[in-house]
Amino acid sequence: MKMEKKDLHNEVKKMESLLRSACRTIWEHPETGGNEKVSADYFRKLLGEEGFKIVNEEKLEHAFYAEYGSGKPVIAILGEYDALPGLSQKVSGRKEPVEAGAPGHGCGHNLLGTASAVGAISVKRYLEAEGASGTVRFYGCPEEELLSGKVKMIYYHMFDGCDFAVSWHPMSANMVYDSGYLASASAHFKFKGRSSHAAFAPELGRSALDAVELMNVGVNYLREHVTSKARIHYTTDSGGFAPNIVPPLAGSWYFVRAPYIADVKEILERIKKVAEGAALMTETEVEIKIDYGCCEMLENHSYGDLAYQNLKEAGLPVFDDEELSFAESLLDTVPKADVEKAQKLYDTEGRPMTWKLNDRNLYQVNPLTASSDSGDISHIMPMCVISTSCWPAGVAPHTWQATAAAGCSLGEKGALSAARVIAGIAYDLYNRPEEREAILKEFREKKDDYTPMYEA
Ligand SMILES: [Zn+2]
Repeated sequence: MKMEKKDLHNEVKKMESLLRSACRTIWEHPETGGNEKVSADYFRKLLGEEGFKIVNEEKLEHAFYAEYGSGKPVIAILGEYDALPGLSQKVSGRKEPVEAGAPGHGCGHNLLGTASAVGAISVKRYLEAEGASGTVRFYGCPEEELLSGKVKMIYYHMFDGCDFAVSWHPMSANMVYDSGYLASASAHFKFKGRSSHAAFAPELGRSALDAVELMNVGVNYLREHVTSKARIHYTTDSGGFAPNIVPPLAGSWYFVRAPYIADVKEILERIKKVAEGAALMTETEVEIKIDYGCCEMLENHSYGDLAYQNLKEAGLPVFDDEELSFAESLLDTVPKADVEKAQKLYDTEGRPMTWKLNDRNLYQVNPLTASSDSGDISHIMPMCVISTSCWPAGVAPHTWQATAAAGCSLGEKGALSAARVIAGIAYDLYNRPEEREAILKEFREKKDDYTPMYEA
């Protein structure tokens, strides 16, 4: 008897305890971008034991894909598992780190990787039971928080042969992102001056720190003359050793974000000129390194429609009184105005968690201002993104409150819903050739020239 979509949803439901323990295990071993050894190995083992073939890329230690099936279409389910520095937090309504200063899953990537893996396993079981043609791949993508992992994976051809990508992110809403993700790039500027005694022979010194400061001032003036939607952030990553030594070395680290990668590249060229100007003024030298850049998301409305339909069918997370009161305690630590604004945006009807399916247009009216290396995936194949309700409306990602929610049943319930949606989307892609063709047609029409902004 042919497996229906609801059978696939049930298959996910049967894996609930596996899903919860995986969410918890990754949460308990938070690893920052580039260091995801335990997390990547955990997923390699889980999928390997389920009968997936594991394919590694030796130049990217914590990246892999796990493949099952044969023939077309090849569906890539994207997983991530990196944590954020300094966001260690217990499942508690007050700020209480597990280990002070340690990383924590403040973006819920423990949920992200797990729901994607469980979704991929259920799809594998479907292909196996049906003996159907088609391939499913789970992608273990490191370094999302550095916005670099998937860009590097594309550079190393790890996505070659894929037809469709399915992705999701834990959030405060049950929704489809039709657009979202600003393009972004990361660059380092290292200035080299000349050290000297700051009081005895200041005239002999050339301060690299002066150059960093002048560069930052210059960039702050530049802001007025770039597209108003651009964001430029910086930090200094070294600035000398002691006030009585003219700093011979100093550096800054910049992120540039804008709606399109073309804008980012143009702004970066201008920032380079500012850096060179600062070096000229201070008689220092500057070494510029563009680390990588990632693209905006290429919209695909046909694919968004399919994802939205699946969100409707999969069943949204429902929270009990105990969970709601924990959500409430987290919101007590957030400014009231932020909570009210978020509850209005997500139309929570006064509840701390979203209960409903949010509007398709929500982020067209209130565009996302974050970036993700998933944007690049949408330039090489059609990609859809959904989110489910995993933390209270009013809690922002990258906070200790989000870490707390991602470590308990609030996040786990959101992840369970997400796994069902992922399974349903894959089911439709295998079974509905007309919709597949419509998505591919829209992709071909919008596709641009793409090359990953990274060089090893
Ligand atoms: Zn994230």
